[in-house]
Amino acid sequence: ATDSAPQRYIAAIDQGTTSTRAMIFDHAGQVVASEQLEHRQIFPRAGWVEHDPIEIWRNTRRVAAAVLAAGELKPHHLAACGITNQRETTVVWDRSTGKPVYNAIVWQDTRTDRLCEELGGDVGADRYRERTGLPLSTYFAGPKVRWILDNVDGVRERAERGDLCFGTMDSWLTWNMTGGPDGGVHVTDVTNASRTMLMDLRTLDWDLQICEELGIPVSMLPAIVSSSGVIAALRTGGSFPDVPLGGILGDQQAATFGQACLEPGEAKNTYGTGNFLLMNTGTEPVFSEHGLLTTVCYRLGDEPARYALEGSIAVTGSLVQWLRDNLGLIPTAADVEDLAARAEDNGGVYFVPAFSGLFAPRWRPDARGVIVGLTRYADKRHLARAVLEASAYQTREVIEAMQADSGVALTTLKVDGGMVVNELLMQFQSDILDVPVVRPVVNETTALGAAYAAGLAVGYWDSPEDIRRNWAEGQRWSPAMGQDERDTLYDGWNRAVTHSFDLA
Ligand code: ADP
Repeated sequence: ATDSAPQRYIAAIDQGTTSTRAMIFDHAGQVVASEQLEHRQIFPRAGWVEHDPIEIWRNTRRVAAAVLAAGELKPHHLAACGITNQRETTVVWDRSTGKPVYNAIVWQDTRTDRLCEELGGDVGADRYRERTGLPLSTYFAGPKVRWILDNVDGVRERAERGDLCFGTMDSWLTWNMTGGPDGGVHVTDVTNASRTMLMDLRTLDWDLQICEELGIPVSMLPAIVSSSGVIAALRTGGSFPDVPLGGILGDQQAATFGQACLEPGEAKNTYGTGNFLLMNTGTEPVFSEHGLLTTVCYRLGDEPARYALEGSIAVTGSLVQWLRDNLGLIPTAADVEDLAARAEDNGGVYFVPAFSGLFAPRWRPDARGVIVGLTRYADKRHLARAVLEASAYQTREVIEAMQADSGVALTTLKVDGGMVVNELLMQFQSDILDVPVVRPVVNETTALGAAYAAGLAVGYWDSPEDIRRNWAEGQRWSPAMGQDERDTLYDGWNRAVTHSFDLA
């Protein structure tokens, strides 16, 4: 990089569930530099998951500084920065001190289980579906805010005085990254807002009645902005001073954008902490009859919003972490592949990772994890295999729901995320779906999608067609399993799932 060619790159911050990344991309959408830091997963009780927002903000500053150093770049080489984030994870902080009143409550956290049931009342889980596209679930941010207001001392009074801000991780980082002496901007984008259960999907504005029914003061809520559009210049402390913040997208929507799923019917599946399959449905929201969510896919400037159908699976990659951290069977997540490959098959073992209940398409908060099919023969190799297979079976369930809702038959599955380096899993996924699985050259589609949103806002890219032009196939796995074996395995999985309700 030289000073004679300023603003040649776009930066993205990807604040994920397990780690925070800063990445720099060039005009072809190739990775120029990348830095990453993991943060602590805090498990205060069974079913509770928290993050420390201060730690995440510190990690963000560190990776931002590190990525510039790694690329031997200065902030003036950046045309814009985008933010993408783990969605739904909820922070409440003080408007004047910037201090969080409580840890961030993570999307996987199930503490609002009873609250969600109460909120459903006689109508049940679909009470707000028509307006928000979502079933009442512990997954979404609204009930998490309510929990903080109800359970942290003095917080409700402070919120009602207008002293507190609510935000998902995008809001929290934007507030801090744009914060100067006069305070940061308090915004969120339409995709993140669509995960709060407080936004009307059609008006793209807060639904005041739902806010009232949930007991959430509107003064806490961020302003809702488009996914692509200049929001503010970043300030000191964020390591990209004076660089325009040009876009915000929730991580799954960012990956959908980064995978160039720009037309109705185009879909991608991301394998991270959980799995998230999103299908672009165009400018009209499509409501699911098979357990999927309706959500905002993205909104570019003043254009009409694009919507998506989404199948969210709570636990996939985090089951690999569980095998590593809770059982100590593997030293690193990547070692699961070798261990699983040492067994020829799953040995009849199935692992249903209902740690946070089951999300799509079943939505059973009361489900719990089970391992079934154990014999004296089974060992850790089979367990490793069952762990990987669980991601593939859950994905098939969601794809079947997606096909039923959309009427679109999937001909290939575009994939990305931390788990898709796992060849055994990718082959098994293709086998169990009987559809080819395709990974793009640039697998970091989440950060890339946020970079595209930011770059489009400042004219670094001209139109979303540039995204399609930059997308290139990296690797493809084709089905190589007989129909009998496929049916037997999937049948075994479906029977295993019924046991996750045994303790309900
Ligand atoms: P997130 O964005 O949700 O933080 P990532 O996309 O970074 O997640 O993916 C991280 C997840 O991928 C972790 O849960 C980890 O256990 C899993 N993972 C990483 N490498 C592998 C691998 N080689 N095989 C299977 N799972 C993996």
